[in-house]
Amino acid sequence: MTGPTVLLVEDNQRNLKLARDVLEFNGFTVAVSTTGEDAIAEAVRTAPDIILMDLQLPGIDGHTALARLRADPRTAGIPVVALTAFAMAADRAKALEAGFDGYLEKPISVREFPEQVRSHLDGGRRPGA
Ligand code: MN
Repeated sequence: MTGPTVLLVEDNQRNLKLARDVLEFNGFTVAVSTTGEDAIAEAVRTAPDIILMDLQLPGIDGHTALARLRADPRTAGIPVVALTAFAMAADRAKALEAGFDGYLEKPISVREFPEQVRSHLDGGRRPGA
């Protein structure tokens, strides 16, 4: 029995390791990418249940990666949740405007993160987002 599959897109190795460890410990199957370009290829390849996307990445940023995922019928229906730095309130508003299905704040809460991710699995995409 495997849990939901998550594609985690994060270029900061420390953030990546923490999020991955917490998710795996809580039964998720985790694929990782450290760039937006790789995330798009990985999303096509693994068809994850959800994508967690850092906004600031080397190469294309999270917003551009989101646009490309939504433009491809193979990945258009996958919920994509932005990972935003806690201090960046403007980033969070922009993320929702840009069509992300939600956002989660970094640093993540080890205790709350798995449930936060799960809450975005059930709802799917917001209509019209
Ligand atoms: Mn980053």
